[in-house]
Amino acid sequence: MRHLAIIGSGPAGYYTAEAALKRWGDDVMVDVFDRLPVPYGLIRSGVAPDHQSIKAVAKRYEAVALSSNVRFIGNVSVGQDISVAELQGLYDAVILATGAPHDRPLDLPGDHLGNVFGSAAFVGWYNGHPQFAALDPDLSGPTAVVIGMGNVALDVARILAKTRAEFAGSDIVGHALDRLDGSRLNHVVILGRRGPHQIAMTPKELGELGHLERACPRVDPADLPDEAEDVLLEPGLRKSVTLLRSFAAIPESYRADKPVEIDFDFFASPRALLGVDGKVTGIEVERTTVEKGRAIGTGETYVVPASLVVCCIGYQTSPIPDVPFDERQGRFANDEGRILSGLYCVGWARRGPSGTIGTNRPDGYSVVEKIAEDQPHQSGKPGPAGFDRLAEHRALKVVRFRDWKKIEEAEQRAAREGAPREKFVDVETMIHAAGKG
Ligand code: NAP
Repeated sequence: MRHLAIIGSGPAGYYTAEAALKRWGDDVMVDVFDRLPVPYGLIRSGVAPDHQSIKAVAKRYEAVALSSNVRFIGNVSVGQDISVAELQGLYDAVILATGAPHDRPLDLPGDHLGNVFGSAAFVGWYNGHPQFAALDPDLSGPTAVVIGMGNVALDVARILAKTRAEFAGSDIVGHALDRLDGSRLNHVVILGRRGPHQIAMTPKELGELGHLERACPRVDPADLPDEAEDVLLEPGLRKSVTLLRSFAAIPESYRADKPVEIDFDFFASPRALLGVDGKVTGIEVERTTVEKGRAIGTGETYVVPASLVVCCIGYQTSPIPDVPFDERQGRFANDEGRILSGLYCVGWARRGPSGTIGTNRPDGYSVVEKIAEDQPHQSGKPGPAGFDRLAEHRALKVVRFRDWKKIEEAEQRAAREGAPREKFVDVETMIHAAGKG
């Protein structure tokens, strides 16, 4: 029997488990670890709560998790409860599928001011991640500035702009729904250091901004390049730019009924966050021009007022003791998934935060092929039985998949009308619902 430990139960983790089952069938046992008592990583706490169709991919991971050759080992933190070296002593291969849960730092003067958040924290707050449930953002001011022009910036801008009714059928957590319902924001600025041809927003997600109940996007026609230049763009980006053109053409009469404006501020690179009494009041930005795809500062600066700032500028992986880390790239140092003998990485932990959820599938299949090449024979290590002995010795409160199903049922019972679930936002409540309290 071949024994694999996958660290992280998000898309990269479960696609790797699926690939291992396809490759070795009943000759493999896979333990999928997560530091939380609940599975699915980014699907649960990253994907926007109003994108339930994307979250539905969890059903595919559940089918893998229910295989008798796969176990979910929740509530176990690798690096704290058990080291990577210990796991390597127990399993033939250890695969880090830990994602990129930390914000890339903005690193500007004033970035420590109150009501300035990274997207990992802000998204974690409205998605009920236990680490960020107590974030307590203040939405009582008029203007939110969202830094970055990727899909996460779109998620955050849309969530800030939606009405309570527009969250029907979503699994946004109650504390966020109530806070958003009382929001006085009437202006959301999406700040990009480059231009419309350099956005990282995909058409489906960008298009949603055009159909909001009380909010309307605004693009300054003067920021748009000559339309003839759009033909040079890759088709997806061309569609997104066409949407920006349609936003620029929205008549003022349509805006009259839309009290919330979502403003695209292009060619604006943040230079410093400004504040009064420790709380953010604005962002100083420098006007840029784009040359050969790069933002070049013009020296002209101005201030964008802001009562809330959310930095959506990308993520990085958290280092794990004794695992080689590439500080510059913010991910594990690896050669196509290989870190050290018997130690691999996959998904965002391997390649950084890019691509869609589906991109992790070929990643998972590829790392399994590498393991098969490197280790044609199993090593006779103890695998799950060895882990169980260690967990008992350390009195770890391991949450298995059947325990998660109890948490899931309790969350479904607690759902407000029309919602799929009300997520528990602290680990103790989860453990209690799992019957492990
Ligand atoms: P992203 O796509 O890499 O976008 C990051 C944005 O931040 C870029 O516009 C970048 O501008 C900007 N940025 C970076 N550093 C900056 C700085 N110092 N100052 C100002 N702006 C800065 O990252 P993301 O939005 O976090 O998304 C991560 C991944 O998840 C992406 O692959 C995304 O497509 C995916 N995702 C998908 C969905 C969906 O499909 N529904 C939803 C959410 C996320 P430059 O281009 O100038 O560097």
